[in-house]
Amino acid sequence: MKGRFDIVIVGGGVTGLTTAALLAHGAQSDALRVTLVDASPRPMYQATDDVALRVSAIASGSADIIASFGAWDRIASTRVCRYEHMRIWDEADEADGPSTLRFDADEFAVPQLGFIVENVLMQDAILRVLDRTDVNLRFASPIGGIERDGERYRLELEDGRQLNADLVIAADGARSFVRDAAGIEVATWPYAQTAFVTHLRPQQPHGSIARQRFLADGPLGMLPLADGRISVVWSTTAGTAECALTANDDELGRMLSEASDYVLGDLAVEGPRGAFPLCAQHARHYVLPRLALIGDAAHAVHPLAGQGANLGLQDARALAEVIEEAITKGEHPGDRPVLRRYERARKGANGTMLHFMTGLNRLFASGSPTLGELRRAGMRLFNVSGPLRERAVKTALGAGRS
Ligand SMILES: Cc1cc2nc3c(=O)[nH]c(=O)nc-3n(C[C@H](O)[C@H](O)[C@H](O)COP(=O)(O)OP(=O)(O)OC[C@H]3O[C@@H](n4cnc5c(N)ncnc54)[C@H](O)[C@@H]3O)c2cc1C
Repeated sequence: MKGRFDIVIVGGGVTGLTTAALLAHGAQSDALRVTLVDASPRPMYQATDDVALRVSAIASGSADIIASFGAWDRIASTRVCRYEHMRIWDEADEADGPSTLRFDADEFAVPQLGFIVENVLMQDAILRVLDRTDVNLRFASPIGGIERDGERYRLELEDGRQLNADLVIAADGARSFVRDAAGIEVATWPYAQTAFVTHLRPQQPHGSIARQRFLADGPLGMLPLADGRISVVWSTTAGTAECALTANDDELGRMLSEASDYVLGDLAVEGPRGAFPLCAQHARHYVLPRLALIGDAAHAVHPLAGQGANLGLQDARALAEVIEEAITKGEHPGDRPVLRRYERARKGANGTMLHFMTGLNRLFASGSPTLGELRRAGMRLFNVSGPLRERAVKTALGAGRS
C-alpha cells in the first residue's frame, strides 16, 4: 500500500511486543504496517500453571507504559505481587542494621515501589492486545539472514520466506542476530558470575519486601511472590550455581537459607531451577540507517537492581515516540537523523545504569576490609541523605524520563 512504512520487529520478548503495541496504538498507526517475528513458539500463560521461573521486578513507571495500550489491567488482575518496601544490606551486617538501605513506598507517597510479574504473563497480556490490532505476528519463525536492499532491508526467515522492511527494529535479546549481522560491535564486561534462579517457601512471611543481601560472590535477590513464596536471583560463581542446580531440595534449601542469613527463617525449595551466565554489554551504536536496536539487543545489565526489562520498556517508548513524530513531520522513520534522536534519548541513560550496576557489583564483591567499612559508611550516609534517596527511588520507580 502506497504511503505506508513496513516495520519489522525481530523479537517477541517484552521489549519487542511493547514496541509493536505502542506503534499499533499510536497516532500514526495508519501509516505503518508492522510485523513482529520471533524464533520461539507463541508464549502462553495459563492461570493454572505454577509461577514461571522467570519473573521481573517491574517499576511503576514501566507498568504505566504497558497500561498505556491497555495490557496492564489483565496483568494486575491475574498474578502480580506489589512490593512496598526494599531492603538492601551487606553480608557483614544484620538485615535490620544501621547500614541497611531502606526504601518504603509511604516515604515517597506512592502506593508501591513496583510489581513482581512473570515474564510470560506480560508477554501473554500484550499479545492479547496485539491480537486486536493489525500487527502481523509470526512466531516459531527465526530470522536467518538480513541484508540491505537499496533503501530497505530484506530479512530471510529460516523456512526460506522473505520480509522487506523500511525499518528493522532489533529486539532479539542479548545475543542479537540482527545486531551481529548488521556489523554493530558490542563492548562487553564479563562478571564471572552466573545468576541461579528458583522459588522458595520462606518460614516467615515475606511482608511484600524486595530484599537483596550482598555477598562476596555476588548479590542474593529475594523477590516476594503473590502466593507467599519468594523468587531468588543468586548471582554467584559458576561452580556454586552448578552445585545449586544439582543439589537435592533439602541441600539447596540449606544453601539458600544460609546465603540469606535466615532473614525469613528456613527456606524450602518449591519451584523450578535455572541458571543464566551474566555479563554487561553495550552496543557501540544503537542505530544505522533503517535499523534500530532496543532492549537487551542494545544493552545487557546486571540483574542486581532489576533494571533490564525496565530499560527495554523505556527504549520502546522512546523509539515509538520518535517514529511517530517523524511521520507527523513528513520524515522517513528509518532515516539515520530520525533514529539518532532515539539513540540520543536512550544510550547515555542506559550506559549510566550499566556502569553503575557494574561498579556496585564490584564494590560489594571486594573482600577488602577498608572498602567494606567505606561501603557501610556510605550506606549509612545514603540512608540520611534526602536528595540522594529521592533520586535513587525516582530512577527505581522508572518515573524519570531520560
Ligand atoms: C536472572 C535474571 C533476572 C532478571 N530480573 C530482572 C528484573 O527483576 N527486572 C528487570 O527489569 N529485568 C530483569 N532481568 C533482565 C530482563 O530479563 C531482560 O532485560 C529482558 O527480558 C530483555 O527483554 P528483551 O525483550 O529485550 O529480550 P529477550 O527477552 O531476550 O527477548 C528476545 C526475543 O528475541 C527472540 N529472538 C532471538 N533471536 C531471534 C532470531 N534470530 N529471530 C527471531 N527471533 C529471535 C527470542 O526468541 C526472544 O523472544 C533479569 C535478567 C536475568 C538473567
